[in-house]
Amino acid sequence: MWQDLQETCKEIAKFSRKDAETYPRYETYVEGLARFAETMLLVTPPNLVGSGASDLGKLGKFGWQFLRMRDDERVGQIRIFTQSVADFLDRWFESDQLKVSLATDGVIGTFAGPRSAGTAYILLHHVMGQVNGHRGLWGFVRGGMGAVSEAIAGAARSAGAMTRTAADVDHIRVKDGRAQGVVLKDGEEIRAQAVASNADPKRTFLGLLGEKDLDARFLEQVKQIRMSGCSMKINLALDGLPSFKALPGTRPMPHHKTTIHICPDVDYVERAFDDAKYGVPSRRPLLEITIPTTYDDSIAPPGKHIMNIFLQYTPYHLRDRPWDGVRESYADRVMDLVEEYAPGFKDLVRFRQVLSPVDLEATFGLTGGNIFHGDMSADQLFFLRPVPGWARYRTPIRNLYLCGSGTHPGGGVMGAPGYNAAREILHDFRRGLR
Ligand SMILES: Cc1cc2nc3c(=O)[nH]c(=O)nc-3n(C[C@H](O)[C@H](O)[C@H](O)COP(=O)(O)OP(=O)(O)OC[C@H]3O[C@@H](n4cnc5c(N)ncnc54)[C@H](O)[C@@H]3O)c2cc1C
Repeated sequence: MWQDLQETCKEIAKFSRKDAETYPRYETYVEGLARFAETMLLVTPPNLVGSGASDLGKLGKFGWQFLRMRDDERVGQIRIFTQSVADFLDRWFESDQLKVSLATDGVIGTFAGPRSAGTAYILLHHVMGQVNGHRGLWGFVRGGMGAVSEAIAGAARSAGAMTRTAADVDHIRVKDGRAQGVVLKDGEEIRAQAVASNADPKRTFLGLLGEKDLDARFLEQVKQIRMSGCSMKINLALDGLPSFKALPGTRPMPHHKTTIHICPDVDYVERAFDDAKYGVPSRRPLLEITIPTTYDDSIAPPGKHIMNIFLQYTPYHLRDRPWDGVRESYADRVMDLVEEYAPGFKDLVRFRQVLSPVDLEATFGLTGGNIFHGDMSADQLFFLRPVPGWARYRTPIRNLYLCGSGTHPGGGVMGAPGYNAAREILHDFRRGLR
């Protein structure tokens, strides 16, 4: 897939002329669906549990927008929120290669296969927003992902904020139903007028608060959030670029700069999910490979490369053993799989880091190793995220807010949950509600 539509269609025509002709129409259609969904990104979801009149008014606004759509758009919206990504794409295309290339965005980070209902929406989630004016692209960050956090921290500091890192919060101090600050693992107490947590909802409510601070029904809802990760990350240091059988060459070529998918067709991905359903890591997983050094020479010595393999499905809970005994041997199998497509690849590997869902949890504080702080399925989105009745960034504890991916509109490096939460916090403080 190229940024240039004509080029993309030329590639698709190698597999199906019909699909190449259809593709521009499909892009326009999906962009239309995404535009409507985008109008919801920077809004606070209405509260439909115990709702007040103002919330019903907000819901009415969405309803009005919905009714003003053309018939086919309205049907499309309902379909994309309910269908499986495989069914959605089957209506458009015949080529397995094209369908699976598009379908992967429907399952990323989610414990679901391409034939699971609701996965079409996840595809849409990845088409929303833009990178440098281009819709549906993944961007590389110069200097690595940490540069995004540094940029945010820099902006905050220049506005007078103080940032602290390597400061593990042990618990949130609560008195009389109000958050008063946080207590760090080393015992230091930081008092605050408000606490905003971008730790995931389970970590925040079950880890940083005590059961005594919250009522039993709310705690039960939090426990039920589906947040069991299924993705593995393998980071590799390479001596050079791999040469793929499909397009041989070790000099940087256009495909080295893309997301390289290893997953021949939709059935392959569904079978990979079948394994995971029964607690077994996929025998032949879906791989998404990127080589950021083809853009960014600041993160590796000249001629050397970093390769990131993001793969599914690797269930957090394995049926019969812990990840510790499986991690490296499983990674060896992944190396063999890449070798099938790029002979000589294994000889290029100088170092590897393997992060199972259990490691993602231990290293980055992601409960269950779920990369989005909770599955992005329709039953856990919008006014149901993180739990019904508490989708407006506030929590049952006064002065405690959630501001991370576990809230609307969910995961991804986009800043929308934080932006929305900040607006609500300012709103409460301006009105002296806290
Ligand atoms: C392997 C992987 C690949 C991904 N790929 C992509 C991608 O290609 N594109 C994309 O858009 N998104 C991707 N994501 C998702 C994206 O990274 C997240 O959606 C995003 O980082 C969420 O931001 P956040 O601020 O909500 O939460 P996080 O980035 O998870 O931040 C939460 C922070 O809270 C900290 N924390 C937790 N507990 C405590 C505590 N007790 N004390 C102090 N700090 C604590 C954690 O250390 C963490 O820094 C990926 C995620 C993973 C894990």
